[in-house]
Amino acid sequence: MTPITTRSTCPYCGVGCGVLIESEGSQITGVRGDPQHPANFGKLCTKGQTLHLTTTPAITRQARLLHPMQRVQRGAPAQAIAWDAALDLAADRFASTIEEHGPDAVGFYISGQLLTEDYYAFNKLAKGLIGTNNIDTNSRLCMSSAVAGYKLTLGADAPPACYDDVNHAQCLFIVGSNAAFAHPVLFRRIEEAKRNNPDMKVIVADPRRTDTAGLADLYLPLQPGSDVMLFHGLLHIMLWEGWTDNAYIAAHTTGFEALKSLVREHTPERVAQVCGLTRDDLFTAARWFAQSPATLSLYCQGLNQSSSGTAKNATLINLHLATAQIGKPGAGPFSLTGQPNAMGGREVGGLANLLSAHRDMANPQHRAEVAALWGVPSVPEKPGLSAVELFEAAADGQVKVLWIACTNPAQSMPDQATVRRALQRAEFVVVQEAFATAATCDFADLLLPATSWGEKDGTVTNSERRISRVRPAVPAPGQARHDWRTAVDLAQRLEVRLRPGQPTLFPYPDAESLWLEHRESTRGRDLDITGLSYAMLQQQGPQQWPLRAGDAQGKPRLYEDGVFPTPDGKARFAALPFVPLAEPRESRYPFSLITGRLRDQWHGMTRTGSLGRLFGHVAEPCVQLHPQDMERRGLREGDLVQVTSKRGSILLPAQASDEVGLSQAFIAMHWGAEYLSGQSNTGEPLAGVNALTTSAYCPGSKQPELKHAAVKVLKAELP
Ligand code: SF4
Repeated sequence: MTPITTRSTCPYCGVGCGVLIESEGSQITGVRGDPQHPANFGKLCTKGQTLHLTTTPAITRQARLLHPMQRVQRGAPAQAIAWDAALDLAADRFASTIEEHGPDAVGFYISGQLLTEDYYAFNKLAKGLIGTNNIDTNSRLCMSSAVAGYKLTLGADAPPACYDDVNHAQCLFIVGSNAAFAHPVLFRRIEEAKRNNPDMKVIVADPRRTDTAGLADLYLPLQPGSDVMLFHGLLHIMLWEGWTDNAYIAAHTTGFEALKSLVREHTPERVAQVCGLTRDDLFTAARWFAQSPATLSLYCQGLNQSSSGTAKNATLINLHLATAQIGKPGAGPFSLTGQPNAMGGREVGGLANLLSAHRDMANPQHRAEVAALWGVPSVPEKPGLSAVELFEAAADGQVKVLWIACTNPAQSMPDQATVRRALQRAEFVVVQEAFATAATCDFADLLLPATSWGEKDGTVTNSERRISRVRPAVPAPGQARHDWRTAVDLAQRLEVRLRPGQPTLFPYPDAESLWLEHRESTRGRDLDITGLSYAMLQQQGPQQWPLRAGDAQGKPRLYEDGVFPTPDGKARFAALPFVPLAEPRESRYPFSLITGRLRDQWHGMTRTGSLGRLFGHVAEPCVQLHPQDMERRGLREGDLVQVTSKRGSILLPAQASDEVGLSQAFIAMHWGAEYLSGQSNTGEPLAGVNALTTSAYCPGSKQPELKHAAVKVLKAELP
């Protein structure tokens, strides 16, 4: 059989590395980094290098969902059902629920791992056809605070920088990001830039001394949740020392006076005390940030997954605006997306409060534009339920039917007990999934098999606004179908029931036809891609947006002219106060639980958990504690401990680590039911760290505070 090479994109993280897939017949035999892809120039991390091993026939047989399955009774084994019968059943249940209870009685929970075309089809289905904005995504857990922060300050959800800026920066401010584990290929670029430019200063602010902090010239071990206090404190010092750029502030921004008055009280002494830092380090950080010729901030979940997520993002952007560290090579606030297509989801308005092409649901003109594009009378005005709200509403019986695609909320959502209650109480749950091993599958009335990496066709957008093609190298296994295809099949069946006799709104024979409609939706918008086509992506490779009709290529960086997409063209300072953690440590729960990624695992391990070699780095779950905390509690390495929050408790071994500070406990987010057990505070069995986490969320972005919960750690009493 002749080996074939197919150019595609890694499905794991927001770096968006290009891959070359080797295949023979229906089997993927190898994977290499694509030397021509500008995100990685041929490099891959351990997860990317082993992608082909997750597609072997043995793993596909064991782990993949290969046929539609129906569970006639909850708790009973699922039985095979034909595709047509499954889709008819789903359409009947959706239509009858909508007719009886209204469109807001149904909800969709989708994923930043879906392709842009999948995302577009699901959003049109929910917001256009059904008439509900109850469609949210696991990207809510990943980057909705970054969206809110950019819109509030810069006027649009558009990261202004690009990866190449790492090579031009003289100061890198990495905050709330363990890029060494979460964005490894980008981190290698940072390491190389530092090697090539020893004068470059790297500041890392993180409660944990991560591998990323190992690269820092200045490490700021700030207390969990104190980021806004830090950013206000740095601005206070910059003002005090005359390090702000007053000409830039006057010409290109508004709102600085209000912010100045807010930060007046944030003296270095007060900030040092709240953040747990030294006054000298604050001055050094402020000086390097403000006085460097080019300062680039890189940030991720430490800022986003917070009950102050919007404020953390916006007050960091304040620093860039106050010092004119934006709109030039090597400078800008650059949020990193966790998932491979969180950015593509943002482009199609894939959140419960957004509409296509960065339009706002609250804006009547935007709603009318989208309704006209979709050929529907209107798009509902009321914002839909965000991820946490959607599952809370299902647990309360308000949302009666749930459709979950390409995500595993039973493991990944905070406050696992509530999510499981929601899945049990919902009258009908459809799970569209590639992997039968996902915990959420246990709650499905209907399981629909989806295609996965190496089989899918469409596009994704990475952290630097670069759109790449995802191409199929092998046919779908079993009866698995593309996610967009299943969304369109459901939509066409629902049309027959909800708007009989009218022409279909979903006339899509392939992924490209969906993408072309998405492209049209961007015309005249900040992310305009009317100059882009699948053919251009084929001939010229991945491209950044915006790329307007007539442009030869996209824009690597934004706001170089100092004009922002706001009504007056000026960026807006955000005078937002510091607000403490939703659940601070207290005497009964004296530890800060911090969650995060491991280097070699991905999300709930449905894909990476099948490979022994990815357990070489970290073999089993543990809770990391500071050696002094271990000693004070009489704990030895490997002792089993009970980690307990107000919501539940899990059992796992303790490990002494200098990476965590005093009164901190770190648990990786990946481990599920196969690896550790636990229970809710009412005694139901639970698994994973989200048995403990809180669903408190940021009022601006509705992103939950997955990064922090108050816990106690006690030596387990074994029978
Ligand atoms: Fe894949 Fe991210 Fe690793 Fe690149 S850095 S190979 S995109 S997981």
